[in-house]
Amino acid sequence: MSLLTVGSVAFDALETPFGKTDKIIGGAATYITLAASYFTQQNNLVAVVGGDFPKEMIGLLEEHGVDTKGLEIVQEGKTFFWSGKYHEDMNTRDTLITELNVMEHFDPIIPDSYQGTEFLMLGNTVPATQKVVIERLAKRPKLIMLDTMNLWMNIALDDLKSVLKLVDLLTINDEEARLLSGEYSLRKAAKKIMAMGPKTLIIKKGEHGALLFQEDRIFFAPALPLEEVFDPTGAGDSFAGGFIGYLAATNDISFDNMKRAIIYGSAMASFCVEKFGTERLVNLSKEEINARVQEFVKLASFEIQ
Ligand code: AMP
Repeated sequence: MSLLTVGSVAFDALETPFGKTDKIIGGAATYITLAASYFTQQNNLVAVVGGDFPKEMIGLLEEHGVDTKGLEIVQEGKTFFWSGKYHEDMNTRDTLITELNVMEHFDPIIPDSYQGTEFLMLGNTVPATQKVVIERLAKRPKLIMLDTMNLWMNIALDDLKSVLKLVDLLTINDEEARLLSGEYSLRKAAKKIMAMGPKTLIIKKGEHGALLFQEDRIFFAPALPLEEVFDPTGAGDSFAGGFIGYLAATNDISFDNMKRAIIYGSAMASFCVEKFGTERLVNLSKEEINARVQEFVKLASFEIQ
């Protein structure tokens, strides 16, 4: 089944306890499409970059089977730029700089060949843009998943609430779930957020795994305890890409299949954090992914007499 991803394609500058990077390639949609490329062949991208974005990176996405027809290049504009600094625990970070640049007034054009997509992943970007994408699809996808962040809750809450009414699944982290709902208990937060629109909710808890909520059901997926976490940037997006890529590949959106998908998503996130930026995600094999998924199965399975 085909997947359409919309979101930021970016330059990132990162600071972690292990070192600093100059501008490297990042962006939500970059991580999502790369992670999804290991699962689905029809991997379409709608995003915007400036004339400063390297052609080789677009080539790299294409080598991974990502269709970049929908990637607009504004020659005279600058690519979205984000800079973040991680705390010692690597679980929390501060945003230092957000320059929307070409993303601010992006008018997402959906190529005709992307119409009819069964799966839509609205990666982190301006909520009004996420909404326009839904409105521009002639047929409603089988599953619309949305990711967002605290920035939009703070500066574009009304737009965010308006797009939330239209989506099936929302993925956010625990801090964002608390901010959006005003509830500390994640169970209470989940109830309130699901009442805003999405029938399914994933709350990511960094190195402590992720919770999947749907109606009265809850599933917990652990994160793999790694000896070294080098750079957590993109973990949430790799998680989303693995999750929705697996759903698209299996064409099954049942709760049971979402449980499997969350493990594939967690496996992709665990690879992502092993190196800076997209470095680890661009060089994976199916065998490595399957072996990692088996580690998750062993980690969380037990028997009770
Ligand atoms: P994650 O670590 O999965 O939360 O995502 C990190 C990626 O999100 C980075 O590569 C950033 O370029 C991108 N990002 C950060 N802030 C924003 C924003 N306000 N809008 C869109 N993308 C963003």
